[in-house]
Amino acid sequence: MTNESSVSTISPLMATYGRFPVTLVKGKGSYVWDDKGKQYLDFTSGIATCNLGHVPDPVKEKLEEQLQNLWHCSNLYHIPNQQALAELLVKNTFGDQVFFCNSGAEANEAAIKLARKYAQKIKNKDSYQVITFKQSFHGRTLATMSATGQEKIQQGFLPLVSGFHYLTYNDPAALEQLKELNPAAVLFELVQGEGGVIPADLEWVKQLEEICKENDILLMIDEIQTGMGRTGTLFAYEQYGIEPDVISVAKGLGSGFPIGAIIAKEQVAKAFDPGSHGSTFGGNPLATAAGLATLNYLLTSGLLEQAKETAAVLDETLAELKNEFNVIKDIRGLGLLKGIVVDGIAPAIVQKALAENLLILTAGPDVVRILPPLTASLEEINEFTGKLKKAFQSI
Ligand SMILES: *Cc1c(COP(=O)(O)O)cnc(C)c1O
Repeated sequence: MTNESSVSTISPLMATYGRFPVTLVKGKGSYVWDDKGKQYLDFTSGIATCNLGHVPDPVKEKLEEQLQNLWHCSNLYHIPNQQALAELLVKNTFGDQVFFCNSGAEANEAAIKLARKYAQKIKNKDSYQVITFKQSFHGRTLATMSATGQEKIQQGFLPLVSGFHYLTYNDPAALEQLKELNPAAVLFELVQGEGGVIPADLEWVKQLEEICKENDILLMIDEIQTGMGRTGTLFAYEQYGIEPDVISVAKGLGSGFPIGAIIAKEQVAKAFDPGSHGSTFGGNPLATAAGLATLNYLLTSGLLEQAKETAAVLDETLAELKNEFNVIKDIRGLGLLKGIVVDGIAPAIVQKALAENLLILTAGPDVVRILPPLTASLEEINEFTGKLKKAFQSI
């Protein structure tokens, strides 16, 4: 007997995403192809994830090699790729020790747990609060959603996890409040990505760092979107000339293979001991093969330098576009994380671009977000400009 109720037109997927009517089946470099063979220029990079372009050969080769040997074994054993990736991350950052997980939200969860443990166990400080900022985005789990300073993301999921307090981003007055609140940590993005591609002011960040150092508040930076070369340096904090205590990393770390991490100074990291925190898949042989190949390539190929030059060309192009179209109010961002401010019409521009076979994103209704792969060529930037111009002309 057949079960008629199983014959249904309801999608088997929960409606957590408003999807574009495009089914992608293949990618290479800056391009993706749909199930009908149509080619698109992809300037979303899987939301700042495929920073080396789609299916980059060095990562593919390393993954293929690892596929032959060992996929998973648990963190109860030593994993050579994990060890090597941690060493490379430590060598190229402020940090001393790494914890691996599988996503951005999990990385921020680990950072928040580490801040609490550090305050309570190492410092004996009567403080567990983590200060974050309005319009921030830190993830979708209960704790990271509670850390996120956007009501629309929290709606319907109350009560929030307690221990978070939001201050106004780029506001010097907020720094005075910070002193009074005397929290365990501050967690923030150097360019608010989902919140509208808003870079932090250099002076403000310097003052924030100073207050943190003076008052024994951990400086934790969410580099999930800004990291892995996206903003012109391996991590954005380098450009601000500051020294964080903890950073969270994910998106670009595995070129599309799911992996996340926090990197911390030894004196903070030592708050975790065996049993403190964990993750079944965190840093598994396949994920860290992808991470290791990605980071090795970024560090040795000259791609960081190339991406800086590409970003300068993109800046010129976008400035010209701003002159040409009155609807463009501002261009902002850092490196290859760019926002075009267009009051209210960002979704319409993205739709028009799709009609030109160009994939771009929004960051809220007012901002068109551009995230080319770091590997994008100048010809591809030209192609992008032509398509984006058409999108603006047809609005
Ligand atoms: C994407 C993002 C996250 C969440 O990462 P997931 O992998 O989706 O959990 C957190 N913080 C920032 C800044 C992000 O851009």
